[in-house]
Amino acid sequence: MTASNSNMPANFIEGIIDEDLKYNRYGGRVHTRFPPEPNGYLHIGHAKSICLNFGIAGKYGGLCNLRFDDTNPTKENVEYVESIKEDVRWLGFDWGDRLYFASDYFEQLYRYAVQLIKAGKAYVCDLSPEEIREYRGTLTEPGKESPYRNRSVEENLDLFERMRAGEFPDGSRVLRAKIDMSSPNLNMRDPVLYRIQRATHHRTGDKWCIYPMYDFAHPLSDAIEGITHSICTLEFEDHRPLYDWVLDALGFGEGRPKQIEFARLNLSHTVMSKRKLRMLVEEGYVSGWDDPRMPTISGLRRRGYTPGAIRDFCERIGVAKSNSLVDIAMLEHCIREDLNFSAPRVMAVLRPLRVVIDNYPEGRVEMLDAENNPENPDMGSRKIPFSRELFIERDDFMEDPPKKFFRLAPGREVRLKHAYIIKCERVVKDEQTGEVVELHCTYDPGTRSGSPTSTRKVKGTLHWVSAGHAVGCEVRLYDHLFLKENPEEDEDFMANINPNSLITLTSCLVEPGLAGAAPGSRYQFLRQGYFCVDPDSTADRLVFNRIVPLKDSWAKIQKAVGNGPDKR
Ligand code: ATP
Ligand code: MG
Repeated sequence: MTASNSNMPANFIEGIIDEDLKYNRYGGRVHTRFPPEPNGYLHIGHAKSICLNFGIAGKYGGLCNLRFDDTNPTKENVEYVESIKEDVRWLGFDWGDRLYFASDYFEQLYRYAVQLIKAGKAYVCDLSPEEIREYRGTLTEPGKESPYRNRSVEENLDLFERMRAGEFPDGSRVLRAKIDMSSPNLNMRDPVLYRIQRATHHRTGDKWCIYPMYDFAHPLSDAIEGITHSICTLEFEDHRPLYDWVLDALGFGEGRPKQIEFARLNLSHTVMSKRKLRMLVEEGYVSGWDDPRMPTISGLRRRGYTPGAIRDFCERIGVAKSNSLVDIAMLEHCIREDLNFSAPRVMAVLRPLRVVIDNYPEGRVEMLDAENNPENPDMGSRKIPFSRELFIERDDFMEDPPKKFFRLAPGREVRLKHAYIIKCERVVKDEQTGEVVELHCTYDPGTRSGSPTSTRKVKGTLHWVSAGHAVGCEVRLYDHLFLKENPEEDEDFMANINPNSLITLTSCLVEPGLAGAAPGSRYQFLRQGYFCVDPDSTADRLVFNRIVPLKDSWAKIQKAVGNGPDKR
């Protein structure tokens, strides 16, 4: 990871930490946490939070915990816990022995609640959920106090204990903080701290029938773990007074955790909430959480993204205080930059058209030298077979081309990459459909790439594979999941789904060296883009995902505004 090499704070959060260190507010400690709720798979927005929390701990020689915020048993499960651990590790971060669960604190949180009741700061309320909402008031009208607000401490202690013991039906009673029903901040109008809910928890089973609310569990989990800086997204800004109230009311003083909010990541042409992503999965719009079109970490991994490219992206977008929409082209730019140097360049024909070289001897095979990556000479070279029958890309031939078509056409010449200059002599068509099915060409033996006799130049260079040697495969081409830049601004975001977000090509051909390539292997297919072997591949059938095409619209944007992409 590219760590900032100056002592300047990289963002406003580091500015706050620098101040805290200067005044020795936490005894020199920096301790953050990443607190996912295990109710879905992580997405690229979470990656931003992971990079930020673990990144800060790394930079300041501090610690970062992984804590599951598992206070909502009906929506959470072990599958999600395991996927989240895998994703954080894959991104390159290590929580050491600090894997925690809010559910591990249930007993302690219960005791804190009792302490609040004893201090006259919490009460059991019998209003129904609808009544609580009604009594809460609105932004312009103050709320109304619950008729149960002034129960005695003894009665509250008794009722709360019986809530825990399972004496009351779900939803019949709650524990509420006694704060201020006329507060301008709705979160401070006697918020609910505990609810009754008979649901089996993935860790605590049926031990509990009352569960703490996020706003109660979160500050206390932070305090229990000795977190110094509790970094969260902007929508929690209005919850900060409650975060502080809970800690105050329970006597946490000096050195207690401090909540800091930053803008969440929104990415164009996709949605970024687990609830919406779950809808896509459950309603079958995608094949699963790890569908390569999903903005989930598992989807990006399967698509072929590298952890380094995702970390680089998170660093480039920075940390700000106001929400914005990041162009997905910037994420694509980051993976291109990475793979431009690291991925071997090979030839693949996605929509094959047969070419016969009439003057090339039948049965002859030449093994030609092909460099693996001109940007990275250390990657060496390989041999590829050339023979009388080849395939080129269907799009690389036009029977009646415009003038600037520098590819193949009747009577025209092109170079075949790493091989010879060929000339198109004759076109064979299907008698019924008129479709071009085969080209007959001649080659110029003196033009072999790299040979001293090869001095002739032509405008176009095409990729190709040898018909008798190429390996058949499937290629999946992806496009944005949503047509609109910001699908989330519409109530019915599903209406905006891109019907062509996946195109599957089943008769593609790659050069023979790719036979048996392992899932996860990444390549540049010359002139086409970056591709990754999908886990759906089997020993006798390769499946490739297109990570990104070659064209880099982000680099273009940067160039246009006079701020070219970093040269490395
Ligand atoms: P979602 O709405 O997608 O379910 P969430 O905030 O409910 O997201 P959590 O599991 O509670 O998901 O989030 C874990 C951490 O990741 C939180 O600190 C949250 O603020 C942060 N986070 C979630 N989404 C984003 C995002 N888009 N950008 C940056 N951080 C995010
Ligand atoms: Mg959440």
